[in-house]
Amino acid sequence: MAKPVVKKKYTLTERVYLIEIIKGLGLTFKHFVFNVKASFRPGPHTVPTCWQYPEDRREIAPIFRGAHMLMLDDQGRIKCVGCGMCAKACPAQCITVKRGKVAEGEESKYVGKTYPEEFVVDLTRCIFCGFCEEACPKGAIVLGPEYELAQYTREECQLTKEGLLANYYKAKEEGKLKPPKKPVPVAASAEPVAKKAAAAKKAAPKKVEAQGAEAKGDAKEAKAKEAEAKKAEKEQKSEG
Ligand code: SF4
Ligand code: SF4
Repeated sequence: MAKPVVKKKYTLTERVYLIEIIKGLGLTFKHFVFNVKASFRPGPHTVPTCWQYPEDRREIAPIFRGAHMLMLDDQGRIKCVGCGMCAKACPAQCITVKRGKVAEGEESKYVGKTYPEEFVVDLTRCIFCGFCEEACPKGAIVLGPEYELAQYTREECQLTKEGLLANYYKAKEEGKLKPPKKPVPVAASAEPVAKKAAAAKKAAPKKVEAQGAEAKGDAKEAKAKEAEAKKAEKEQKSEG
């Protein structure tokens, strides 16, 4: 049901607009004085004045998800094996991976026997959800600290393998690489479960056999009882 409109009753000062205007100007002036004072304070601006970007830059959170990076290991080898798990996990379908076999003599460049011959992330489609990072079994793709992603053309928004590696080198140089994630203890907890399942599978036929034997035994017993009952009946008849 529609609500009835209640007309607000204005006070006399509200009806005389001038007083309300003066009140508003007073509030604006109060904030103006506060901000002027704040701008003379040393150090980064922690008060509600504008950050003078790009000169002033706020520190980004360690969990910030910016442009992607292809990670290298301690020996400078590309961690990615081109498995395509990240592309499968991507909800925006913006990753293209083409796997190639590592050629002879190039083993020192890559961790695995295969490598990403082609690796493109379409940043015009990416929603920076981080699913690719989560899905990667090698920890080879990470969303880095880079957030200045504006470009003039769509082509420039295609982050190629070279761009991904350049992002890694830049973050490393600036000391902004995230610490490696702690492995989730899935394998440890999954092992006993898997063992239990295997044991249950082995025990299952035995259980069925036992049940079968039990059932056979019951049938024999029932037959014997039936025979006994018939015998007793015959005896009764002959006596009669
Ligand atoms: S961050 Fe999300 S949307 Fe972007 S590439 Fe990774 S999985 Fe796809
Ligand atoms: S980044 Fe990870 S998930 Fe993606 S292709 Fe490379 S190894 Fe596979």
